[in-house]
Amino acid sequence: MQTPDIDADERRYDVALVWFRRDLRADDHAALYHALRAARRVYCAFCFDTEILDALPSREDRRVEFIWHAVAELDSTLRGRGGGLVVLHGRARDEIPRLAATLGVQAVFANRDYEPATRDRDAAVARSRARSGLTFHGFKDQTIFDTDEVLTQAGAPFSVFTPYKNAWLKKLEPFHLESYPVADHARALVAPPAGSMPSLAALGFRETDLRGLGVATGSSGAERLFADFRSRIDAYRERRDFPAVKGPSYLSPHLRFGTISIRRLARESWAAASEGARTWLSELVWRDFYFQVLHHHPHVVGHAFRREYEHVEFDNDEAKWRAWCEGRTGYPIVDAAMRQINRTGYMHNRLRMIAASFLVKDLHVDWRWGERYFADHLLDFDLAANNGGWQWAASTGCDAQPYFRIFNPVTQSQRFDPDGKFIRRYVPELAAVPTKYVHAPWTMPLAEQQAYGVAIGRDYPAPIADHDRARKLTLERYKRAAGRGA
Ligand SMILES: Cc1cc2nc3c(=O)[nH]c(=O)nc-3n(C[C@H](O)[C@H](O)[C@H](O)COP(=O)(O)OP(=O)(O)OC[C@H]3O[C@@H](n4cnc5c(N)ncnc54)[C@H](O)[C@@H]3O)c2cc1C
Repeated sequence: MQTPDIDADERRYDVALVWFRRDLRADDHAALYHALRAARRVYCAFCFDTEILDALPSREDRRVEFIWHAVAELDSTLRGRGGGLVVLHGRARDEIPRLAATLGVQAVFANRDYEPATRDRDAAVARSRARSGLTFHGFKDQTIFDTDEVLTQAGAPFSVFTPYKNAWLKKLEPFHLESYPVADHARALVAPPAGSMPSLAALGFRETDLRGLGVATGSSGAERLFADFRSRIDAYRERRDFPAVKGPSYLSPHLRFGTISIRRLARESWAAASEGARTWLSELVWRDFYFQVLHHHPHVVGHAFRREYEHVEFDNDEAKWRAWCEGRTGYPIVDAAMRQINRTGYMHNRLRMIAASFLVKDLHVDWRWGERYFADHLLDFDLAANNGGWQWAASTGCDAQPYFRIFNPVTQSQRFDPDGKFIRRYVPELAAVPTKYVHAPWTMPLAEQQAYGVAIGRDYPAPIADHDRARKLTLERYKRAAGRGA
């Protein structure tokens, strides 16, 4: 998949196929643009890949429904331009070569994917095409810079974010942020042979609460979210850390599934002069950073980036684990965070850091358990960012939080949810509890528990861990692991 981008405006193919994956939009799309310039006739396809779908733990999955809406909208947009999508359901590594053969396609165009499993799938597809004389073109589209584009002066991948970001910004030219003017070349699109979009039920999935939650889907949804965020971007820096406040963009599922272009977002934040916009651009750079970590260090999947922390001792106590998953730890900010992810499929970034740190350093549960839980529940689940975030919190990762910096869940709560507004939204048991107790309700005297209608240990759990004791044990264990070395 590391074939170079095509520059020449020559129609070298009669028929080409664009294979959409996590790039579900019709504008500013690298593979689509290059295909339209390189071929006289261009088909478009998307495959609901059973290799991915069959592995999902539930038949009610908001991600599948999110993709389904995005695919339907993409199909309709392409039809408006004279094309449309062939929507397949099966093993993509078999279905795509079969479709290419049926349509008499000479070349397949796709945007690069960086996850080990998808790279393996793409390599298999590329091999099967090579055998039948097809050409496979892969393009950078998900990131601003990928693979080896941003390296240290010695030519090595960066493992610390700030120098990576500085090198990233130094390399950035307006060219890297230009959009691909797909619409100018749309005349090459051809309508697909008859066939219809499978229903969710035909894919083996049931409808979820996605619409009820008000999740904006498809490119039109992404546009609405971005328009709203643009009006708030200048205040991003001050507001982004407070979960009760509308601070971040909420664009993560759209970046995950490519319903909006990363070039467009980076261009607009780069052009804006405010501190808020610059800070937001940094978050987009974090995204590129973790993609390149995954590319250069695929061992991070399932293993500590820093090998000396591979064998930190964990208790993996099942009861504590279940309490964390269900938002019953007795620490309100952690419980509110876990109830947010369970109820909505989203968790605020500050809360992801707090909940992850608490699981690993207060409950002594292996970070890989938490990583899996987030992977199963987040609408925006992205292997590179999720793994990076968990290894950051567990202090095992690339440029991670040092192991001796351990979040105190009570002071984090006091600082980032000072009025307890977010806690009360997700932990209604504590709705009437005054702010001075809401971050640590076990400190409330019995008389006040009675007065506010919440008995700790009955209506709301007593804390399942003692932070100070847990902290000491964490320090000992990490120190021991560091002493043992890789
Ligand atoms: C333990 C943990 C797990 C995480 N898992 C994921 C995940 O599976 N998918 C995911 O997209 N992000 C993940 N993040 C990063 C971050 O929490 C989310 O990107 C962010 O909360 C999404 O909300 P937003 O779109 O409103 O963010 P905004 O603040 O508006 O940020 C804009 C975009 O920048 C990117 N971004 C922001 N922060 C990060 C970051 N730290 N690392 C990489 N990209 C970032 C995202 O694409 C995000 O949509 C994780 C962080 C932690 C600590």
